Amino acid sequence: MSNITVCARLRPSSSKERKDNGDNVCMRRLDAETFIFKDEKEEDFTFSFDKVFYEESKQAEVYEFLVLPIVRDAVNAINGTFITYGQTGAGKTYSMEGPSILKCDEEKKGILPRVVDGLFEHIKSLNEVENYSIKLSMVEIYMEKVRDLFDLSKDNIQIKESKVQGILLSGATETEMNMASSRSHSVYIFTIQQEFTGDKRMRAGKLVLVDLAGSEKAEKTGAEGRVLEEAKMINKSLSALGNVINALTGGSGRGNHIPYRDSKLTRILQDAIGGNSRTALLCCCSPSPSNASESLSTLRFGGRAKHIKASPRVNFNEHKYAKKHEAFCPNKDESCERIL
Ligand code: ADP
Ligand code: MG
Repeated sequence: MSNITVCARLRPSSSKERKDNGDNVCMRRLDAETFIFKDEKEEDFTFSFDKVFYEESKQAEVYEFLVLPIVRDAVNAINGTFITYGQTGAGKTYSMEGPSILKCDEEKKGILPRVVDGLFEHIKSLNEVENYSIKLSMVEIYMEKVRDLFDLSKDNIQIKESKVQGILLSGATETEMNMASSRSHSVYIFTIQQEFTGDKRMRAGKLVLVDLAGSEKAEKTGAEGRVLEEAKMINKSLSALGNVINALTGGSGRGNHIPYRDSKLTRILQDAIGGNSRTALLCCCSPSPSNASESLSTLRFGGRAKHIKASPRVNFNEHKYAKKHEAFCPNKDESCERIL
């Protein structure tokens, strides 16, 4: 059992924040793991994380500390998950993708392109692997529907569970390789499969990256109509995530029941949160006093998540078992799956 890794990232003040607040920020750094946060009422809270990425931190530092160990594990058939959490504008997508997923300075490249490079780099270094495949599915969860970002006609993908592969998105387009909006959760799923020379055993690791929708409270956004409905749905799924975390850390008073089924997000993350996965969470915050209450709730969420324990393991499939269950095409054999 290992704890999930939780870090905070405090982005630089935006020009608007600088105009409104000058150099005034709501946190004071103590060291690389700890800072003091001042809330709206000037009350001090001390927060400690596995690491704090302050405003000058580089994308490479975030990748190397939080995600590279997960990439290495995924190549060794241990599932991994990386999640960005925080209010809209806090720096989640910047961390995940960089300022632009299509083109940006090498130094500013986000986690997602670094993961692609890292997976290929590490898998090539394994001598005993004869064949491998790396597949990517990209979906978004919008209004409790899972939509395929490679094929928008697939707008209500089913989530299934397989004994062999854990949580699966049935029929989501996989590419050998946006629509990403702050009103939806973006989920990138890499599946890494390998066949060994000699005994031809197979093993598979799954690496899931999740850029969550903004965590700001629906009623505070001043939204109406459809936008308010979206915000409520986001709050509902993020509350479900919070409830799963509470239940896993003994805070729910509901015995051993973990309410993964309360939202699509928690179903997809069932493997990742408290299950068979090494998980890392990046809590993104604005440093501005005007965002203090949302930043405080993000940091508290991270504080609770630090107590989750997970038990990642190597996903070895015996050759004959893998063949029988068509590990490369899991949806062909429904017998080992059940719809959640
Ligand atoms: P979110 O995805 O949480 O809604 P974004 O990642 O889109 O927020 O960030 C909001 C703005 O702040 C963007 O213009 C982004 O480029 C900028 N930004 C976020 N984090 C950083 C950072 N660490 N360094 C520089 N600019 C950042
Ligand atoms: Mg975003």
